[in-house]
Amino acid sequence: MTSHDELLSRHRAVLPDWLALYYERPIEITHGEGRHVWDAEGNRYLDFFGGILTTMTAHALPEVAEAVVEQARRVLHTSTLYLNRPMVELAEKVAGLSGIPDARVFFTTSGTEANDTALLLASAYRRSNQVLAMRNSYHGRSFSAVGITGNAAWSPTSYSPLQTLYVHGSVRSRGPFAGLTDGEFIDACVADLRDLLDQTGGGVAALIAEPIQGVGGFTSGPDGLFAAFREVLNERGILWISDEVQTGWGRTGEHFWGWQAHGAAGPPDMLTFAKGIGNGMSIGGVVARAEVMNCLDANSISTFGGSPVTMAAGQANLGYLLEHDLQGNARRVGALLMERLREAAAGQDIVREVRGRGLMIGVELVAPGTDEPSPALASAVVEAAREGGLLIGKGGGPGGSVLRVAPPLSLTEAEATEGAAILERALAVASALKAATGGVA
Ligand code: PMP
Repeated sequence: MTSHDELLSRHRAVLPDWLALYYERPIEITHGEGRHVWDAEGNRYLDFFGGILTTMTAHALPEVAEAVVEQARRVLHTSTLYLNRPMVELAEKVAGLSGIPDARVFFTTSGTEANDTALLLASAYRRSNQVLAMRNSYHGRSFSAVGITGNAAWSPTSYSPLQTLYVHGSVRSRGPFAGLTDGEFIDACVADLRDLLDQTGGGVAALIAEPIQGVGGFTSGPDGLFAAFREVLNERGILWISDEVQTGWGRTGEHFWGWQAHGAAGPPDMLTFAKGIGNGMSIGGVVARAEVMNCLDANSISTFGGSPVTMAAGQANLGYLLEHDLQGNARRVGALLMERLREAAAGQDIVREVRGRGLMIGVELVAPGTDEPSPALASAVVEAAREGGLLIGKGGGPGGSVLRVAPPLSLTEAEATEGAAILERALAVASALKAATGGVA
């Protein structure tokens, strides 16, 4: 029995069945450096998924590791009952970067909890549990977050503390409005939103949306969609929550936050973040203007949110990102990677679309020559890429037919070219397998 087999059988014996694992033979990653990781059997991989877009700067970044060790040696935990210098300092930086005026920041330990907090704030502020969410959305795994998930693969129950209405707009190239031009698409989505609101009694609390859907397969509406939505929301006093858990911190290259692609909208009322800011340390949070953040009239704390060690790591990581202009790198190297991936996909009848921006690129796969999403092919390509030495993700509902390419933002041009070449071979291998077997087992 190999090391991986042995750990897999122990994993299966004590962990939940629904804790999804990648690969027919799942791997244990034992260490990393830069954009590379190694597994327990000594294989080295170029990492184009960063533990679900979370290794934002680089693996084993010395600046982050040192900040963690230094803080851990001083004090690991104090709780929010005492003044916490690393938390105040990181809050100042995040508030300043958020674009939200008179911003307040509340730190949590995950993106789920950040969204849960934003929903709590919106419900309390607007005295309503009605929420608008996008179709094909993903916002986390808690009871409230599942209640605003528009993706069946991630919705284990229909019970919810919220009443959710799902809005069109984040899936551009499928669905009833796919054939329209960008302008017509936006108009159709706005008309749908107005109609939905006119049919809904009571006052809706908020719209929560990912500027580019992550788990949903790196898909988004045209730029300006949320500016058009914002006008409708403003007419009715409905808040806008931008879930930046995947799109924040410059990953999209052109912008620091995903909402900025809809610039005319101005900043959202609330912004949620997690994943990349901690480079793996558990930091999530919500930024809101003071009036919204301070609307709760009962106490609320998070024992672990804003813990000094995670805050020290977040500061070191954010400092590195800004000093090295990794947003600029995401724009430059992301453009190159997109070009290489488009070249790799050209002539492959299993690729329907290569899309995204910056270092957030989706490759949608279909059964050859059809428009039928192919989760089986996506799994086969992910598997073949691993065999070739490249880790990528998958997503997109239903079933996961979109390859998700999202390396750390420090990716070099040489690594982008190397990764694209591995993916090109993986596409060919999976395609040939499909042709040979008439299906992918
Ligand atoms: N929002 C988005 C857009 C996400 O992609 C995720 C995680 N995939 C979450 C929220 C939930 O974050 P977490 O897993 O840290 O709870």
